[in-house]
Amino acid sequence: MDNDRPLKILYLSAEVVPFAKTGGLADVAGSLPKAIHSLGHDIRVAMPRYGRIDPLKFDLKEVLPPFPIPMDRQTEEVSVLQGQLAPEIPVYLVENTKYYDRDGIYMYPDDAERFILFCRSALEMTHRLDWRPDVIHCNDWHTAIVPNWLKTVYHDDPFFAHTASVYTIHNLAYQGVFGYRVLEIAGIAEYGFMYHPEMADLAEVVDFMARGIYFADAINTVSETYAREILTPECGEKLDPILRDRSDRLFGIVNGIDYEVMNPATDPYIARTFDADHLDLRVNNKLALQQEAGLDVDASVPLTGIVSRLTDQKGFDILGNVIDHLLDLNLQVVVLGTGDPHYHEMFSRLSQTYPGRAVVFLTFNAALAQKIYAGSDMFLMPSRFEPCGLGQMLAMRYGSVPIVRSTGGLADTVCDWDPRTGVGNGFSFERYDRWALFAAIVRALENYRYPETWRKLQVNGMTADFSWQASARKYVELYRRAMSNQTSERTVQAEASAEQ
Ligand code: ADP
Repeated sequence: MDNDRPLKILYLSAEVVPFAKTGGLADVAGSLPKAIHSLGHDIRVAMPRYGRIDPLKFDLKEVLPPFPIPMDRQTEEVSVLQGQLAPEIPVYLVENTKYYDRDGIYMYPDDAERFILFCRSALEMTHRLDWRPDVIHCNDWHTAIVPNWLKTVYHDDPFFAHTASVYTIHNLAYQGVFGYRVLEIAGIAEYGFMYHPEMADLAEVVDFMARGIYFADAINTVSETYAREILTPECGEKLDPILRDRSDRLFGIVNGIDYEVMNPATDPYIARTFDADHLDLRVNNKLALQQEAGLDVDASVPLTGIVSRLTDQKGFDILGNVIDHLLDLNLQVVVLGTGDPHYHEMFSRLSQTYPGRAVVFLTFNAALAQKIYAGSDMFLMPSRFEPCGLGQMLAMRYGSVPIVRSTGGLADTVCDWDPRTGVGNGFSFERYDRWALFAAIVRALENYRYPETWRKLQVNGMTADFSWQASARKYVELYRRAMSNQTSERTVQAEASAEQ
């Protein structure tokens, strides 16, 4: 195989910045393709055209008029609109009023059907565009059916004879588990449930994530530490047996962030742009944030930021157990997030109890997120588990010092401060325990008292390389590995059938 040949890659994601976002998946889908394109490859993105995506705002143009997609022994009509991620990176948006013209992105009872329709449309679309991908890069459970199809219903389709699949696990906790009907809707009922001797449940449910892992030609997750952690029963979310079986084709590739969009030197949302050589200017963002958030305006009080989905994964139970003690110390907290009602209540109570010192915004607001990265002194991510985490990298890019639990991608990107050597870009703790978290915050506050030390921490974070450059090259290697796995598997199959 020609190892330098530019590749054609179809990148499938349920959310993509700037079209639709609920979390890190959208950031990755909006930035990794740009880095892969800059390495000389033809990468194209596909996603559903949700009702919230305004065709006028994104200048979307119809590229495929309505065509039928097999669904549940019938057909469903879809059309395809085209937008751009960058001048030479098309984004294909699959349009169907019944399934996508709704306010939200997920959490509908027919989500399985919605994403089956999206994936099947994306495959059929490549046929109609006569654009034959070398690799289909699938992300999370929403697109995990594609590797399964390539090995079953599309196996004998000459158009996909040389198409390999890569499956990226962004979060193993969301697996997309449904009942038998889903197999009928997807047209693979004749192949039945999956079976694994150590996973009795699999014989009774359709677990999309498990299918992606089982059928993809190469698999990865979004940090090296998480790739190791998910092989264990503690972190494997019940899929560790199948992940261990596949460990020869499972890799960890840490996410990057979009250095063009997320840049404190040019960010249009923040009060004062700055960079690592002009850190003195940064305080203007802190004062503006305190003002806008209704906190006491005081440059000397350490300000801690949180921008996050408010779920158990993110460690807010241990934070909740210790936060009153924290607010007895001299610090302020600003929280931006949405999620479990339980945490909405917890943070609302906090802001009522400590007016001027704690404030919560229970909403999704990208501009405010950037103001928090640029204006907070510290950024809190005490996650129970964290596949990669982007918040800590964005915080460091903007000079906010992360305080994190050392797990998954947080362990791979945040290096605990060592005052003796001056090495480190944040504070981390190991045990998932409120007092371990408390101690890490106290350590951060202690260091905050010394401006030179603090500046060193900030500069270490701001000058670290969290761009996509290195990781994009690793993805290209992964694509080539998937292609070679796919070719070998086909060769073995062909030899076996010739012998019969
Ligand atoms: P996850 O993907 O688990 O939600 P990440 O840290 O990988 O966590 O990515 C979260 C992304 O979503 C970051 O870009 C963060 O800034 C953004 N984000 C999370 N919550 C909000 C919110 N309420 N408003 C704006 N941006 C948010």
